Amino acid sequence: MRYTSDINVFVRVCAKMTDKNSAVQALTLVKQKISEAAENAGRSPLDVELVTVSKTHRPEKITPVIEAGQRVFGENRVQEALQKWPPLKDQYSNLELHLIGPLQTNKVKDAVGLFDVIQTLDRPKLARVLANEMTARDKLLELFIQINTGCEVQKAGVLPDSADDFIAMCQRDYELKITGLMCIPPFSENPLPHFTLLKEIAKRNGISALSMGMSSDFEVAVEAGATHVRVGSAIFGARGF
Ligand SMILES: *Cc1c(COP(=O)(O)O)cnc(C)c1O
Repeated sequence: MRYTSDINVFVRVCAKMTDKNSAVQALTLVKQKISEAAENAGRSPLDVELVTVSKTHRPEKITPVIEAGQRVFGENRVQEALQKWPPLKDQYSNLELHLIGPLQTNKVKDAVGLFDVIQTLDRPKLARVLANEMTARDKLLELFIQINTGCEVQKAGVLPDSADDFIAMCQRDYELKITGLMCIPPFSENPLPHFTLLKEIAKRNGISALSMGMSSDFEVAVEAGATHVRVGSAIFGARGF
């Protein structure tokens, strides 16, 4: 399978490049790989959005990537994003910020204020609090529902068997516009069956966007139909935890 050795080599090459502070070069390479994967699958590269995952990285490291033209970024913590992004949003126009980590209801106000897309809607209470906050501010965010395709106990997300009901509830009870679905496959498994499952759930519910694929498997994801890939370490190098 393509997702094994050659991708790992590629990730290592990217990490070396970012050591020399060339996230911009790595960005170019990732974009090229996305285009090639899209073309292999008979898709338009324009139908795949690269969400550059900048979590744990400082603004000084992010700025060159913005200046190279990248506008869509992902963060997994509301608190960290609140410290980093308001000044960047003042400085650069048309930035689009995606929340890709779990959202606690007590952070919803901050999240709705800062983010443009929330990819991690996964429970009724969060749906209700988000709906109320978006109505109060008259700000409608794009929402993705996270699906726990591997049924992992430690992982957030709606279980595949509950997905149809949860999607219907969000749409009917809270009048939320559900744009897409998102998944994070189990770490050491072949991701392809998870991508395929996510696509099936989306299709039968009339949902078009699919956020799937990270540094190690974004090409597989693009070939499987991803409309959004979330790539961090292949662009910025390893994260300092
Ligand atoms: C960190 C993170 C990513 C990016 O992971 P990489 O392997 O560094 O590309 C993607 N999605 C989510 C939800 C993440 O938390």
